[in-house]
Amino acid sequence: MEHSIQKNIAKILERIENACKNANRNTDDVKLLLATKTVSAENIKIAFANHQTLIGENKIQEIKEKYESLKPFAHQKHFIGHLQTNKVKELIRYDVDCLQSLDRLKLAEKLQNRLEYEDRTMDAYLQFNTSFEESKFGMHPDNAVKFAMEVQQFDRINIKGLMTIGLFSAEHEKVRRCFKLLKNVQLQLLDKGIPANELSMGMSGDLEIAIEEGATMVRVGTAVFGKREHPDSYYWNEGK
Ligand SMILES: *Cc1c(COP(=O)(O)O)cnc(C)c1O
Repeated sequence: MEHSIQKNIAKILERIENACKNANRNTDDVKLLLATKTVSAENIKIAFANHQTLIGENKIQEIKEKYESLKPFAHQKHFIGHLQTNKVKELIRYDVDCLQSLDRLKLAEKLQNRLEYEDRTMDAYLQFNTSFEESKFGMHPDNAVKFAMEVQQFDRINIKGLMTIGLFSAEHEKVRRCFKLLKNVQLQLLDKGIPANELSMGMSGDLEIAIEEGATMVRVGTAVFGKREHPDSYYWNEGK
């Protein structure tokens, strides 16, 4: 396992580098976030030993289970799953650095209130549904400016970027359309002075397309840690 995780990370870094070259972009401008849902703390530590320090989790329960074992290692933890409003407290309790799946006002309100109570701040990305699939979470891109302006009012939440999950499709042009849409939303928000500089898009199967369309962060799970037991829809629903 140790060897394959190491090898897989090297392969992903090479894919990122090649995609950047093809898109005339600087490799340093694209960060790798490891999507670590269902991955054991032991295997995450292998990734840390290979200079990876950015992970993304989908469920509070998993963050809690791995918290003590990972705590001694310097790393950044983003939340990338669907979050129920009653779990906002746990983001703070378990040192989540950034909520990438901020997709509705109610959640922003709860987060603001909790952050005020704890007297601190948190980074966030606004999540958009760019594939228009019912099953996917995320704000509709048509409401982007209104939503972002509302979140901007919450002084404890620092909007740092945008996140989307592209369409799962073998048809590249359809996938590309999702990423182009997120880029377009970004330009609208930057124009309003909202500092949504990061674009978190692209996964194991489509990171090259995302990088061509401007991703500054790709989120990779299976290509590094292997196949997961459950379908992804399971992880994108933060359960009770
Ligand atoms: C699991 C997950 C990923 C990584 O997907 P892979 O196809 O395993 O690379 C990226 N983003 C989110 C939100 C995820 O839940």
